[in-house]
Amino acid sequence: MYLTVQGLVLRVTAYKDSDALLTVLTREEGKLTVKARGLRRNNSPLIAPCQLLAYGEFTLFEYRGMYTINEAHSIELFQQLRTDLSKLSLGTYFAQAADVIAQADQPNPELLSLVLNCLYGLSKLNVDERKLKAIFELRTACIAGYTPDLSGCHGCGDLRPNRFDIAQGVLECSACRDLSSNGIRMPISSGVLDAMRYIVGCDPKRILAFDAGEQTLEDLSHVTESYLTTQLERGFSTLDFYKSLQPV
Ligand SMILES: [Zn+2]
Repeated sequence: MYLTVQGLVLRVTAYKDSDALLTVLTREEGKLTVKARGLRRNNSPLIAPCQLLAYGEFTLFEYRGMYTINEAHSIELFQQLRTDLSKLSLGTYFAQAADVIAQADQPNPELLSLVLNCLYGLSKLNVDERKLKAIFELRTACIAGYTPDLSGCHGCGDLRPNRFDIAQGVLECSACRDLSSNGIRMPISSGVLDAMRYIVGCDPKRILAFDAGEQTLEDLSHVTESYLTTQLERGFSTLDFYKSLQPV
């Protein structure tokens, strides 16, 4: 049986002979593992559309639950990020995190749109990397079911508390500190709180449309990273590599 899907390549792994296995986040079928025959031969027509972070249309042949690529055409290769190691490694982190969140055979159009928007912002719009990282991390946490409660202090209801409890996903002012909870609280400025509220609540199409200063973006990126990795209870090798490239 043949089927045609549009999707983003999240992972490429060497397989038998010159074949490769691809993890593709598709619009129609969710996350699929597909075999690309002969991909590791120099003259394979699949090389461009089957590379990591390529978005394209794939015609798949399905036999006994195993998918093999019959034809592939790239729609967007995000070329500009392939010549910049920092951007490429950030994009690779987006792909690894999306791979962890996405379920097999369960469409997740919101996640696919988020990754594509962030890759577009990274490659075409030259958006600040810390901003894209924060947007990606916080929205991914929400998509994975960990939407933080940013309405006000969980103790007194104050609308502008200055701490964020990253394990509970709630706001807290210093006076309301719950001594029975030993989770890590990160200090957050007013600017960081505003940005987090925007990212959590905005229309996905307007996700890039907020402004924040240098320091706010720096702090925001630390908070969202701690939040996502705490909620998922794991780190990411691609994130460690991205961070190793950043000036201290
Ligand atoms: Zn309070």
